[in-house]
Amino acid sequence: MNNFLETEIKFLPGVGPKRAEQLNKELKVYNFRDLLYYFPYRYVDRTKFYTISELDPEMQYVQIKGTITGYFYEGKGSSRRLIAEFSDITGTIRLIWFKGTRWIPDSYPAGKEYVIFGKPGVFNSLLNIIHPEIELAEKRESRLTSALEAQYSTTEQLRSNYITSRFISKIIGNLFQMINFRIPETLPEYIISEYNLIALHDALYNIHFPPNNLLLEKARYRLKFEELFYIQLNLLRYRIHRNKNTRGFVFSKVGDLFNNFYFNNLPFELTSAQKRVMKEIRKDLGSGRQMNRLLQGDVGSGKTLVALMAMLIAADNGYKSCIMAPTEILAYQHYRSVTRFTSGLGIKVLLLTGSTKKSERKQIEKFLMGEEPVILIGTHALIEEKVQFNRLGLAIIDEQHRFGVAQRAKLWEKSSEPPHVMVMTATPIPRTLAMTLYGDLDVSVINEMPPGRKPIKTMHFFDSERSKVFAFMRSQIKEGRQIYIVFPLITESEKLDYKNLDEGLEILSQAFPPPEYCISVLHGKMTSANKEISMKLFREGKAQIMVATTVIEVGVDIPNATVMVIESAERFGLSQLHQLRGRVGRGADQSYCILMSSEKLSKEAAARIETMVRTNDGFEIAEADLRLRGPGDIEGTQQSGIPFDLKISNLAKDGQLIEYVRNIAGKILENDPMLENNKNRVLLNELNRLFSRKYSWSNIS
Ligand code: ADP
Ligand code: MG
Repeated sequence: MNNFLETEIKFLPGVGPKRAEQLNKELKVYNFRDLLYYFPYRYVDRTKFYTISELDPEMQYVQIKGTITGYFYEGKGSSRRLIAEFSDITGTIRLIWFKGTRWIPDSYPAGKEYVIFGKPGVFNSLLNIIHPEIELAEKRESRLTSALEAQYSTTEQLRSNYITSRFISKIIGNLFQMINFRIPETLPEYIISEYNLIALHDALYNIHFPPNNLLLEKARYRLKFEELFYIQLNLLRYRIHRNKNTRGFVFSKVGDLFNNFYFNNLPFELTSAQKRVMKEIRKDLGSGRQMNRLLQGDVGSGKTLVALMAMLIAADNGYKSCIMAPTEILAYQHYRSVTRFTSGLGIKVLLLTGSTKKSERKQIEKFLMGEEPVILIGTHALIEEKVQFNRLGLAIIDEQHRFGVAQRAKLWEKSSEPPHVMVMTATPIPRTLAMTLYGDLDVSVINEMPPGRKPIKTMHFFDSERSKVFAFMRSQIKEGRQIYIVFPLITESEKLDYKNLDEGLEILSQAFPPPEYCISVLHGKMTSANKEISMKLFREGKAQIMVATTVIEVGVDIPNATVMVIESAERFGLSQLHQLRGRVGRGADQSYCILMSSEKLSKEAAARIETMVRTNDGFEIAEADLRLRGPGDIEGTQQSGIPFDLKISNLAKDGQLIEYVRNIAGKILENDPMLENNKNRVLLNELNRLFSRKYSWSNIS
């Protein structure tokens, strides 16, 4: 019967090869099952009729009954259109067609009564409905429709081939008539009864043809439950599978490197969150199974240090380790701080980026294939095929949301046996999204900032208030502080009306002239040598101001910088703003984030800015981001491999249900980890059907 559902859509009565092609292309509906799972985006009450006198152009879709009193044409060439006068006893409106104008008067002759459905509009101060759905009134009345009529989204392309929402509804109806059996259940009986779900067959029928709101809700719940449940079951199953089958190197001891570092080189006390996370990591590393851990911690919470300590433990056990950063600037910064933190310990620290010279690279490769444990720091250059390790024990990815799944996967192949893997991310993601994106990883959270940090004060100014901002900057510089100014663009853009760095620099050079002031510049189009010169100027305090693009967004750590000015802040997303703000507030001094914007702000941009001013809490910001943008747009989710074309559930809104089904999935796997039990056979079949092809990467992150 599953085979039946896989029948190509062209074989469905009413479809045929040409429309099938359209459905394939536009809606990705290839077979009967795809069509059953092409859910309506909303429902309209088709029992309700309006009179023409009640209509106004602000209304959404309306249904009216009346008579076509005559047809005529208007306009020339491509704007030629067919117009019908349509009247009921309360008034007249125009029905307008730009396409299909030839056959409409024949199909719907004047003088008869019709039911019209469409969105009212206005043109030349006359009310109209463009391309209405139209049906003979007597036919409409005989047609069996439920009160709630499903509306399916279509495309321009489909509509011009007469594949309308109603057509889709009709072929789904045809399909249900063909199905002379119950659609096979995709959840085990015991789950259905225990969690009060309705049968799949009924859910699918009712989602397309709901007899009433109650049954529609039940249908939606069952289908959401199932969609989210299988995602979680799949993630958890991989985790169990991996834990069972992938052995990990055993780092049994904490040796001299770690201890020397901890007792002699570490200039401050670890926060208790850092200590707890280190314990979690050490437990993994000593367990004999491969670590796959996500380390989450807000910007500035001290993740780099945790990474370093884990790498020292690897070295103490004779293994090499590497850390991959998304930008050269960040890689270099890690290299500097790791070198400093490990000075005198006698561990080799290497840096490999795209601009490493060939001769140096040869040297590095020799070290990587050698016997000595080393720490390698690098960018994407590190996952190039040429780079191979002898005894790579631990691979760390910093700012992992900047990398795709495929890139992460490559780290596994760097050594004959897979290393322990830790991915670090500061971009806070809401819990529910994390459960889905990283649901197969163990998670450690640094939920505490190093002591003495004052919360960053965030303020919003309009471009017209720039002089106030400049005065504030001068006063901060006078106190010895440093300032970042970030621009969304390097040069002027014809399309985008945002501040650009070139112009900004000109204005700033006048407001902050040499020799009193020194401004350093940093953007992606500079050579890496020049970038480093700029960074150095700023790091050493010789420049008070750094003018930059978002190249400084991640990781850059200069504690004396206390002011972050973001130009055209309306241009940036919330997580990006939060990351940028995270560049300050890294020392003991009070820090400030100044969001500059034009006066014209869209509602969303105003909401983003308001959120930033209100809170410093990364998780709260992440929740707001999810609400404002939806999960598909959150940084990192695109590459995650999770199907964000979820058919019915919504990661932003269905958080509770996600937690609920994750627990259920966890319990099932606890009792039957391989899903071998007879009663769970359905689960295994469904998992294989849903995930086998697309998700073979899942065992690698
Ligand atoms: P992130 O989590 O954003 O990567 P970093 O690792 O860059 O944060 O740490 C931010 C700054 O805090 C660095 O200058 C680091 O040396 C410092 N730091 C880290 N841990 C502590 C601590 N326990 N006490 C004081 N400062 C710390
Ligand atoms: Mg960092």
